[in-house]
Amino acid sequence: MKAPITITSSNGITIDYDDRKISLDPDRAGKSDYTFISHAHIDHMKGVGSTGNILATKETALLAARRGVTINLAEQTPDDLKMIESGHILGSRGLLIGDDVYYTGDFALKSRSFMHGCQPVKCGTLIMESTFGKRNYVFPPVEETMRRVNELIADLFSRGIPVVLMGYTLGKAQILSDLFSSWDPIYLHKSIFEINQAYIDLGIKLRSDLQSFDEAAKKRQLERKPWILIAPTNGGSRQIMAGLKQKYGAVSVAFSGWSVEPRYKYMRGVDHAFTLSDHCDFNDLIEMVRQCDPHKIYTVHGFADEFAAHLRTLGYNARPLKSDQTFLSEYPSAD
Ligand SMILES: [Zn+2]
Repeated sequence: MKAPITITSSNGITIDYDDRKISLDPDRAGKSDYTFISHAHIDHMKGVGSTGNILATKETALLAARRGVTINLAEQTPDDLKMIESGHILGSRGLLIGDDVYYTGDFALKSRSFMHGCQPVKCGTLIMESTFGKRNYVFPPVEETMRRVNELIADLFSRGIPVVLMGYTLGKAQILSDLFSSWDPIYLHKSIFEINQAYIDLGIKLRSDLQSFDEAAKKRQLERKPWILIAPTNGGSRQIMAGLKQKYGAVSVAFSGWSVEPRYKYMRGVDHAFTLSDHCDFNDLIEMVRQCDPHKIYTVHGFADEFAAHLRTLGYNARPLKSDQTFLSEYPSAD
């Protein structure tokens, strides 16, 4: 009979399964038989220097490389470790360990533009992110957000006002590039231009004729208003935006799941904010649990306490996974 599965939450999440140590998105390089990197967001790639085998998709490795992070992928993935589409950004995956433990990584159930939603699987133990695990985080359909933003752009364009669409550089900015690709001209911030190019190289059909903003500025095209710029919400975005406002009278529009909070717009210092997320909203988190139908649920990130408490009111065996906790999960169903 196999040894019981232990789940430990120090340095990310570590699972002892069938005599192997498997680290899930660790906080730093360590020693494991397998280290799983769920996707190419910087906070999930801190374990890339770990000894042992590194599991990630080819897309994650390529996106990481474009951001200056080297991932030496394992040559083979064992049959009992399956990477499952998580619908968060290009190349993102969850990990199914045996048929027992399913770690979601960051995930989104709904499809948006070229991104397909996560594919839930039945499992005994579900370890899930709960970023938006609070009742008030309910998102409108993507189509509704698109319609409202297109109306706003049409109004601003009719008055010759440039628009800056803001989202994080890897993931959101590419979705924005696709959702609003019918407008012209569209310029891309340098960091986004590079990631869009990586997406195109990986087979995503984004417009390849979009110029970088710096290039357009050199050619003095920005004086010909209106235009759209897709810019990052991170990395000094406030200063960039202040400059664009002063010079061109540009209006800023940010996209985030956090925009459900009325104060988000003011905290970010933007003119408009719309809800568009690469994570599940509260209802989709519950839908994920329903579809996976697990015996045990551990919540991580965001509103982990609140969401686990809510799941318990629905009759699930759920609890948050906090640092330095160890749990013994069920014995594997097959021996
Ligand atoms: Zn992420």
